[in-house]
Amino acid sequence: MAGFRTRAIHDGQAPDPLTGAVNVPLYLSSTYAQEEIGRHKGWEYSRVSNPTRDALEASLASLEGGASAHVFASGMAAISALVTLLKTGDHVVCGANVYGGTPRLFNQIVAGYGIEFTYVDTSDLHALREALRPETRLVHIETPTNPLMTLSDIRAVADLCHAHGGCDLAVDNTFMSPFFQQPIALGADIVVHSTTKYLNGHSDGLGGVLVGTRPQHQEQFRFVQKCTGGILSPFEAWLVLRGVKTLAARMREHDNNGRAIAALLDRHPAVAQVWYPGLPAHPQHALACQQMSGFGGMIAFELGSLERANCFLTRLRVCTLAESLGGVETLISHPATMTHAALGAEARTRLGITDGMVRISVGIEDLPDLEQDLRQALDAL
Ligand SMILES: *Cc1c(COP(=O)(O)O)cnc(C)c1O
Repeated sequence: MAGFRTRAIHDGQAPDPLTGAVNVPLYLSSTYAQEEIGRHKGWEYSRVSNPTRDALEASLASLEGGASAHVFASGMAAISALVTLLKTGDHVVCGANVYGGTPRLFNQIVAGYGIEFTYVDTSDLHALREALRPETRLVHIETPTNPLMTLSDIRAVADLCHAHGGCDLAVDNTFMSPFFQQPIALGADIVVHSTTKYLNGHSDGLGGVLVGTRPQHQEQFRFVQKCTGGILSPFEAWLVLRGVKTLAARMREHDNNGRAIAALLDRHPAVAQVWYPGLPAHPQHALACQQMSGFGGMIAFELGSLERANCFLTRLRVCTLAESLGGVETLISHPATMTHAALGAEARTRLGITDGMVRISVGIEDLPDLEQDLRQALDAL
């Protein structure tokens, strides 16, 4: 098998047979001509399949090492499609500190269909084992988590799920991207992404993907695309295809800058704590070295209070205060009032998300410019 960077550029993206175009064309066609009843070139209607989307799905299946990939209009649309594997009476174990939209979907919509959810810290294998029930069909985890960068041991969690019988492991791999973490190679059954983040990489489109490993996943997720219609548009599929070609190059830059910024924050007297798996002091640094091939660009750090966090954030000139992550530009956010506001103060305290915590998605700008920007804002505290 070719290397990751070669596959990112070529898999699913052979030159166009009609014209020789080296890029997959953007097929803006809702429907396709048929030669006679029941005879066509493989495409009938773009909700069901579209050639630009098909190319992206082939590319993402290859990069994650899965059997098939299925793209949706957003990460949340992909996770909604994932839960269609479940039936009334089934039970799901979900990581206690996953993307906020995930438990909102599970608790406020899916639980109404008679599916039960238990939330546990999946970095604690004992707690996970205790949470599994005979009717547990799915374990859904994120590693590292947002914003506290807690890791779960993917191989150990997969082994627990499979020993339990009839239970799939889904890993939301948005934070690491397939370049740094390969959950399927570690035993996961399904990989989820918000392609909005690193896969697209330029903060200019939303999307989501489910990568499956079994024929049943392919049948089910294809069927959900056709039945519910929450598919990725051809244009956004084209954007993600374009983004994926530079994924490896971008991730290396995110990782280089991330390591340097984490070290800067760690040394600065205005910063009380830094959460980054690449720091030797991270409690799971050894696991990070084992199951990830880089540490990426996501860092959380503690400034002591909401006032200090706001003072810091308003002084930044290169880094942009905004939700989201994984783009080429450095984005910085305040979890307690932004991504994790809906959780409520009590749940945030339980998870360890404080009012003084800031999260940074380190971009690929020149490192000295980022360092200077962060340093001047920290020095003012
Ligand atoms: C952003 C995000 C999602 C949701 O994706 P959308 O594209 O915003 O719907 C899911 N999981 C993680 C880890 C995310 O960061």
